[in-house]
Amino acid sequence: MNLADSGILSAAMDDAGFVSVSNPEEAGVIIINTCSVREKAEERALGRLTELARIKKTGDSRICAVGCMAQRMGEKILERIPKIDFILGTERLFDLPRLLNKESIEPVVDTRMTKNLDWAEFSPAPDNSYSAHVTISRGCDNYCAYCIVPYLRGPERHREPGAIIDDINDLYGRGIVEITLVGQNVNSYNSAHLKFPGLLKKVVAETDINRIRFITSHPKDLSDDLIDLFSSEPKLMGHFHLPLQSGSDRILEMMFRKYDYTRYLSLIHQLRQARPNIAITTDLIVGFPTETEDEFGMTLEAVRDIRFDAAFMFRYSVRDGTWAAKNLKNDVPEEVKLRRLQELIELQKEISYQVNQKEIGRISSVLIDGTSRRDASVWKGKTEGNKTILLKSPEDLLGKVVNSRINRADSWTLHGELAA
Ligand code: SAH
Ligand code: SF4
Repeated sequence: MNLADSGILSAAMDDAGFVSVSNPEEAGVIIINTCSVREKAEERALGRLTELARIKKTGDSRICAVGCMAQRMGEKILERIPKIDFILGTERLFDLPRLLNKESIEPVVDTRMTKNLDWAEFSPAPDNSYSAHVTISRGCDNYCAYCIVPYLRGPERHREPGAIIDDINDLYGRGIVEITLVGQNVNSYNSAHLKFPGLLKKVVAETDINRIRFITSHPKDLSDDLIDLFSSEPKLMGHFHLPLQSGSDRILEMMFRKYDYTRYLSLIHQLRQARPNIAITTDLIVGFPTETEDEFGMTLEAVRDIRFDAAFMFRYSVRDGTWAAKNLKNDVPEEVKLRRLQELIELQKEISYQVNQKEIGRISSVLIDGTSRRDASVWKGKTEGNKTILLKSPEDLLGKVVNSRINRADSWTLHGELAA
C-alpha cells in the first residue's frame, strides 16, 4: 500500500513540475513515506529522517515525513527531528505538491482524516516501466487485535470500478504489462454492486492487461467465486497471498481473525484444486500475548502441513491504541519471541527450498524487469508465482514477457533459460 501511495505521490509531484534526482544531496525536496505497522519500521524511518536532516541544505530545501508514522506521531516527530518541514498523515500526503508551492517558514503538520476518497483520485506512477500497483480500496474495518492500520488509515472505502478501469487502461497505454490491485482486504471490495470477483472480471473484459495480481486477501472474506476464477481465468497470475498469522485457534480467536485453522486449510485445498501449482504465501506472527510454546508449535506444524512457497514472519510488536495494547500484557519475553522467530524462519527457508526444487522442469511465463544485482549480464524477472528468476540470454529481454524453463532453484531464487 505504501509503495502504491508513493507511486501516486510521485506522479502528483511530476505533474506539479518537480523533477527527481538520483541522490538526496542534490534534492530540494526529500520525502520519506513511513510505515507504522511494527515498531522496527518506525525506528528505521526515524533513523533515515535524522540522517537526511543532517544533510539538509540551508535555504529552501525541504524534508517531508508522510504516511502512517506522520499520522500516528504528528508533531512529536518535530521534537525528535526539528528540521522537518512537512508532516502529512495518510490522507493529507497528496497535498504536498500544492503545499510546497506556498511560501512557509513554519513546519506544516496536517493529520486530518476525511470521509470520502476524492483526495485519493490521482493516477499512480508505475513501479517501473512494466508493472504498477493500482489501489482499489483504502482503510480497514477489521480491527485485528494487534494491528494499528485501521486507526491510521481510517475506515474501509472503495474506489469506483470505472476509476480503476480508467487507471489500468491509462497504464497499459504507457506500456505497463502487469498490474497488482491493492487494498488492505481486497476480498471485501464492494462498489457499485460489484464485489471483488466481479471487479476482476471487469478488468479482464475491459482492459488489455494480461498479467493481473492482487494483495491482500483476508481468509474470512475469501469467496468460492474468487477461487473459481483461478481455474477459469489465465490472466490471473498463479500466486495467492493469504495471511494465516497463527496456527493456534485460541490465538486466532484472540487476534479477532474470525476463522480457525480448519477453515484456513480448506481454503488452501480449494485454491490448489482450482489452480494446481499455485504459489501460496502468508504472514505469520510469533509471540502474540499469552502464546505458549505449544501454540507456537502449532504455527510450526501449520507451516510443515501447508508448505507455503514463502512467508513474511514477524515477532509481535505492541502498537499503542490497539485492542491488544490496551487489554493484554506483552508477556512473551523478547528473547523467547526472537528464538521462536528464528526457528520459524529456519523451517520456512528449508520448506521454500524444497518447494522450489519441485519447480525444476516447469515452464513459467516471466516478466523480465531488470538484471541481476550481482551480474548485469543476467536477466531478472518474476514468474507467474511471483518468484524471482534469473536467466541468461544474449537478446534484449527488458520489459518482455517470455517463457522460461526452470532448471535450478534455491530458497529465494529460481534459475532458468528461455523456452519455446
Ligand atoms: N491487511 C493485511 C496486512 C497488513 S499488515 C492483511 O490483513 O493481510 C501486514 C502484516 O504485518 C500482517 O499480516 C501481520 O502479520 C503483521 N503485523 C501487523 N501488526 C503487527 C504487530 N503489531 N506485530 C507484528 N506483526 C504485525
Ligand atoms: Fe490490520 Fe487485520 Fe486490517 Fe490486515 S485486516 S490491515 S491485519 S486490521
